[in-house]
Amino acid sequence: MAELAVNLKSIEANLRFIKNEADRNGLELVFVVKPCHDYAPILQLVDRQSPAYLGMSKIQIARNFSERLRTPVLTTSLPTAHQADDIVRYSKASLNSDPSILDALDRAAEKYGVKHGYFLMVDVGDLREGVLPHEAPAVMRRILAKNHRNLIFEGLGTNYACANGVQPTYENLNSLYRLARGLAEEGIRVPKISLGGSSIIHWMSSEILASWPTQVRIGQAAFLGTIPVADEPFVGLRTDTLRFCGTIVEIQDKPAAINGASPLGEQSAVEAIGIRKRAILDFGVVDADPRALIPRESGVRIVTANSDYTVIDVTGSAESLHIGSSIYFDLKYRAMLQGFLSPYLSKRVVEQLS
Ligand SMILES: *Cc1c(COP(=O)(O)O)cnc(C)c1O
Repeated sequence: MAELAVNLKSIEANLRFIKNEADRNGLELVFVVKPCHDYAPILQLVDRQSPAYLGMSKIQIARNFSERLRTPVLTTSLPTAHQADDIVRYSKASLNSDPSILDALDRAAEKYGVKHGYFLMVDVGDLREGVLPHEAPAVMRRILAKNHRNLIFEGLGTNYACANGVQPTYENLNSLYRLARGLAEEGIRVPKISLGGSSIIHWMSSEILASWPTQVRIGQAAFLGTIPVADEPFVGLRTDTLRFCGTIVEIQDKPAAINGASPLGEQSAVEAIGIRKRAILDFGVVDADPRALIPRESGVRIVTANSDYTVIDVTGSAESLHIGSSIYFDLKYRAMLQGFLSPYLSKRVVEQLS
């Protein structure tokens, strides 16, 4: 049966490593748990490390776990007005880029008698959410002029490698810290600067992060031990955290595929000619993004995938594979995301990965 093996010990080692680095450098830490969806063993493990916040993208998950987690939640996806009630009830703060949404959050916070923190997202080049740096002071003045009684300005935030692979550089970091200093000079106190995701790990002990109270938001590094976009391992982090396993349900010699499109529209690469040994595995795109699975064993190659099957070429494998054999994969981010999301894929806590 296809399954996702979860090595909680390795994940815990990564959480501790990152927490130590953050503590050592005086940084506030957010663990972004969104790729683990609602998988309770990981959410509870992260909760036990006592980060400043759990970063969640779906407020429904924060709501479902509100009784079971003690760490406050930071909503990492931009709130919409119709979610405002749940956002203020089930998360303590959120990342924002639009004054009109803040109005809705303020009204909701008033209604529930709570205070809600917000960060203004600034886009320093990754071209996902956020106002451009030169627009930020005017937007901040507009927001503050509204005198929201139930909102607390927590600071400025930005994203790296979340859309266009833009990595932190001295220049783009400095544009944010300069902005914070500039706002402070005109009397707008910026309590902290929030930076994510995992590519910020390379900068945790830099002087620039130490120059202003800073929060880091980290997900992938903790759960995979790798850093986007290149997905290279980070020294000190463990990569034996998650492993995907599929089971062979058919194995036959078949002619090499003629180059064609898979049912999902992707073009499969031209492959070797002749008769190939091909196997079908018992999972498909419902359970994982096959493009984000890396076969552990040499001689195994993913050919194509559809909803429920993944076809692999095992001609080059030295193993004597048969129906029922397990094939193991390392995961990239999208496979982790899809795996935790799939209700059909069983997840199992293991002491060690096979
Ligand atoms: C997903 C996300 C993160 C975490 O990114 P990783 O690369 O997984 O560490 C941080 N901040 C925001 C706003 C996110 O959406």
